[in-house]
Amino acid sequence: MKQIRKIEAQGNYRDNQLKIVNVGAFMGSDAYLLITKEKAALIDSGFSFCAGQMIENIEKELNGRNLDYVLLTHSHYDHASGSPYCKAHFLGVKIIAGVYAEKIFAKPSALAIMAEMNESVAKDYGVNSYEDRLNELSVDQVVGEGDVIDMGGVTLEVIEAPGHTKCSIAFYIPEEKMLISCETMGVYAGEDLVAPCFLVGYEMSLRFIKRAQTMDIEKILVPHYGVMIADQCKSFLKNALRSNESLYKLIINDAKEGKTTEGIIDHYKSVFYNAEMKKIQPEQAFELNAKYLVPMVLKEAQEK
Ligand SMILES: [Zn+2]
Repeated sequence: MKQIRKIEAQGNYRDNQLKIVNVGAFMGSDAYLLITKEKAALIDSGFSFCAGQMIENIEKELNGRNLDYVLLTHSHYDHASGSPYCKAHFLGVKIIAGVYAEKIFAKPSALAIMAEMNESVAKDYGVNSYEDRLNELSVDQVVGEGDVIDMGGVTLEVIEAPGHTKCSIAFYIPEEKMLISCETMGVYAGEDLVAPCFLVGYEMSLRFIKRAQTMDIEKILVPHYGVMIADQCKSFLKNALRSNESLYKLIINDAKEGKTTEGIIDHYKSVFYNAEMKKIQPEQAFELNAKYLVPMVLKEAQEK
């Protein structure tokens, strides 16, 4: 059993017009609160079992104000499961996601996987019973490339960023030169390593990283990490590109050498599932993802 590590809200970015606070209740349970003078939006909403604690964290920060939006960067269990609890708690809150996320939430088979992953992570943290609201998962507003969410003096421009999932989206805040990223770039796994997350497309994931490298970016909200500033952004993007390319090469080379999928996954795991990753992703989730990722890469390479 993992050490229970309830996390109090932690602010990691603040200026006159925008404040960003990590309100995720446990490691791996991704949820960041964006507060402007007029509006408040939650970026992702974490696991099911600790949604209550996350809502407490949010309430503390909002100090009587209401939550206006829940923006889902994608439909995975560690990002989307808390959204129905928000919907039930904050009057009139709008759940916003990409078009494919809505389709996923309508699939009983997808909900069953989400429930199973939630149960497993809850057990890891020693939580055996909690209210499951996954069947209430819904999207109030579907957004796509170029759509704008007005937060009062701060605007969030939607960027479609498929690659991790089909439904992955990111946001750009021109007033702050800030990218609210998603897992298509990969996740921070140490000073020099970004753990790749391209589950549905390698080339399309690279496109998103390369696109970000051409954008005017001074800050990046990196999933499962927090806000990176100035030079950190540049090196994160560089590391992301290099790490994604190196995993691709590892898979292609291993396949050429005749390794089985299991053998390739083991090799992949030994390089990328490091101590940093273990903090934010359970082994079961890593392995489930790897089982999608490796055959996807081999298929994509064949179709080239
Ligand atoms: Zn994900």
